[in-house]
Amino acid sequence: MPAPLTTRFAPSPNGSLHLGHAYAAIVAHDRAMQDGGRFLLRIEDIDGMRSRAELADEFRADLEWLGLTFEEVPAQSTRLTSYREAAQNLRAMGLLYPCRCTRAEVAAAATLQGPDGPIYPGTCLRNPPLASADPVWRLDVEQAAELCGSLTWFDERRGPQAARPAMLGDVVIWRRDAPASYHLAATLDDAADGVTVVTRGADLFAATHIHRLLQVLLGLPEPRWHHHGLLAGADGRKLAKRRDAPSLADRRRAGEDGRALAYALRHTRFDTGVSLDESLDLLP
Ligand code: GLU
Repeated sequence: MPAPLTTRFAPSPNGSLHLGHAYAAIVAHDRAMQDGGRFLLRIEDIDGMRSRAELADEFRADLEWLGLTFEEVPAQSTRLTSYREAAQNLRAMGLLYPCRCTRAEVAAAATLQGPDGPIYPGTCLRNPPLASADPVWRLDVEQAAELCGSLTWFDERRGPQAARPAMLGDVVIWRRDAPASYHLAATLDDAADGVTVVTRGADLFAATHIHRLLQVLLGLPEPRWHHHGLLAGADGRKLAKRRDAPSLADRRRAGEDGRALAYALRHTRFDTGVSLDESLDLLP
């Protein structure tokens, strides 16, 4: 029997959820239900410095309040061994290099801006740093892409895509503080959790190019993707965790009807003060 269609909602517990997250969760939930599939909740608490354990309970309560049934899979903080092993594999393949540049140094030296900020200019690839206690490890994207040849991936809403992993530059794979990067952790987890349709906002469209490359390098199965539009506030900007009050938890505690809110979001009845913008953060 083929694996059931499986989607996930993967929030980071560094701030309360807002309407944009509610919309993301609803899209992922409904996509799975449409096919009689599974909808997973994964707490992305890889960033030990910024994650707050109590928010995971808040997120569960928010989803229930919206009327969404989910299965929870282990949080990222319990999966560090798999991240370490994968990073070691990539390193053994000669595809990671140590980097000691600070964010400020990268910003000052970069000549290209990518969708997520300055593109790493390859300083430490050209001039390997002297032994450093605690470097970050970056993926040599050019070499990795050469090894894999041309790759494609499929977005359910935008059709076939040619992978352009160089778009984000030599991304960090292993961090000093977190420890694994979002790219490595999310790619491994989606495979381990049996996710068949990676459903998330269009602001992560560019990340998919690098995730596709990592899947091939690490021998992981290829899912499909579903990048949905983003909710914009009255100022036309994407909603942000801290900027746009109130949070889902505020609304829930104030006695608002979560299922009615979910209905409004599903039917894009944005008397909620937000609108759906399909173009926000989407690359050409
Ligand atoms: N943890 C990410 C966030 O909260 C989501 C990552 C993803 O859906 O791939 O923005």
